Amino acid sequence: MRLVLFDIDGTLLLSGGAGTRSLYRAFQVRYGIEPDWTAIRFDGKTDPLIIQEIVSMYGVDEEPGQDLYDIYLSILPDEVRRSPNFQVLAGARELVTQLSADPGFLIGLATGNVETGARLKLERAGLSSYFPFGGYGSDSGDRTELIRTAVRRGSELAAPQAVDEVFVIGDTPRDVQHGRAAGATTIAVATGHYGLDELRGCGPDLAVAGLQPMGPVLDFMSSGSRTGREAVEGEAGPGP
Ligand SMILES: [Mg+2]
Repeated sequence: MRLVLFDIDGTLLLSGGAGTRSLYRAFQVRYGIEPDWTAIRFDGKTDPLIIQEIVSMYGVDEEPGQDLYDIYLSILPDEVRRSPNFQVLAGARELVTQLSADPGFLIGLATGNVETGARLKLERAGLSSYFPFGGYGSDSGDRTELIRTAVRRGSELAAPQAVDEVFVIGDTPRDVQHGRAAGATTIAVATGHYGLDELRGCGPDLAVAGLQPMGPVLDFMSSGSRTGREAVEGEAGPGP
């Protein structure tokens, strides 16, 4: 059995800024601050990490707790529903549909979104039901850890079949670095804010311009053992 773990933002869909706007408002409501979003790069970061960076930047004198998430998650449904530029990325639905019909694959999520946020975005996209499990920003602020959580949950679902290989598909260098640190085979897709050359520079096992056409990604995941995996597995931390 092969596990395929998808990132959400920039990989399966674009929320058109719904998450950013919701977090912005939550910070306004909870702390009375208006973060300068141009100073923060969101891509590939987990929700807890983004929140931590904003808190540090503005010298907020307390650890953000569940109350900030509660405000964020009270705003997000409406933002996701109304977001005019929300779109499912080309090829994503086709690839997910194809993989979920293949008994050799089990698909899940590896996303920095907290689980409720992830599900809201996927529900608008009509994709949520394809992903029976995942690792989320609500599991860990550390992307390597949340990928490991996804692998553990996927392995439990796959049992008694053994998991032979784990793929992480994402649009940022962080997906590649943390996927590799978690022992996964990494596929970079240049449909977010990073170009193909920039992603190739991080050394993913495969880099593609997009999920359409899905042939190259499907062929890669269906092919046999890849050279060099032994050297990668067991690494203690993310790459440079
Ligand atoms: Mg992403």
